[in-house]
Amino acid sequence: MTTIRTVAIIGAGQMGSGIAQAVATGGYAVRLYDADLSRLPLAHGTIANSLARRVERESLGADEAQAILGRITDAADLAAVGTADLVIEAAVEDEAVKTDILQALTPHLGPDTLVASNTSSISITRLASATDRPDRFIGLHFMKPAPAMRLVEIIRGIATSPATYETAVAFAQSLGKTTTNAEDFPAFIVNRILVPMVNEAIFTLYEGVGDVASIDKALKLGANHPMGPLELADFMGLDVVLAIMNVLYDGLADSKYRPCPLLVKYVEAGWLGRKTGRGFYDYSGDVPVPTR
Ligand code: NAD
Repeated sequence: MTTIRTVAIIGAGQMGSGIAQAVATGGYAVRLYDADLSRLPLAHGTIANSLARRVERESLGADEAQAILGRITDAADLAAVGTADLVIEAAVEDEAVKTDILQALTPHLGPDTLVASNTSSISITRLASATDRPDRFIGLHFMKPAPAMRLVEIIRGIATSPATYETAVAFAQSLGKTTTNAEDFPAFIVNRILVPMVNEAIFTLYEGVGDVASIDKALKLGANHPMGPLELADFMGLDVVLAIMNVLYDGLADSKYRPCPLLVKYVEAGWLGRKTGRGFYDYSGDVPVPTR
């Protein structure tokens, strides 16, 4: 079994920065990489703010917070990524982009390096085949926000070895997470169930059954959901929601997974939710305001 000490993360967006924080908090050295260099200081800022809030709440000591930040460094290129003990790919939910990254990474991988993808929906078996090591490739699906959410969904590709699986489970547990196992089918378990529900909420809005506030209130108070489905869509990123619906639609060839045209239009407009300041809510003021 590979001993994990150093973890490299590809993609320093919403998930990559959250995973970096969770992994560094677990005591590992983290190397963060992004094709867009401007993302790296933003990720460090997000992590520092999140740790500062924990220090304020007294759930973390100031020294510990400094030590965690000190364990996260930037990787200048894929050569610096490949020599880590574990590489976690957390770039955009686009199979062509992920395949290109994995192909470019492969020549730089150390002989024993394990590779994981944080994909929400894409076939682990297909992603693994872009590398030279399908036996040492696995799906490690962290939930958002990664530092706080307890679950990591583990997805084995057809060739994933038992040793890789055991190492991945032990790694997730070492971060204080609980794991669940999903087979390698489109969107696995969590998003196979959650994202069609979100898409249905967008259809409910599109067909005028309710407005944004009514739909979110209905599910929060009527079904005890901590977040309304449209609030959740904005939190996940509408591009991510659409990408997952497309994987379900293409992968299962069933019209029940048709993405709502309103979701498509929002993504085309660049209204991607919280991360762009507008989605089903407008985030430009102090309080999010429904847009419909
Ligand atoms: P995001 O848009 O916030 O971040 C994606 C990052 O990938 C960006 O920083 C971008 O610059 C970077 N990137 C793009 N092309 C790259 C390349 N060629 N090389 C390196 N970096 C590149 O997206 P996100 O929400 O963090 O999603 C990332 C992954 O995590 C996706 O696979 C997504 O499905 C998955 N995921 C998302 C959520 C969620 O709720 N948003 C939850 C679990 C898993």
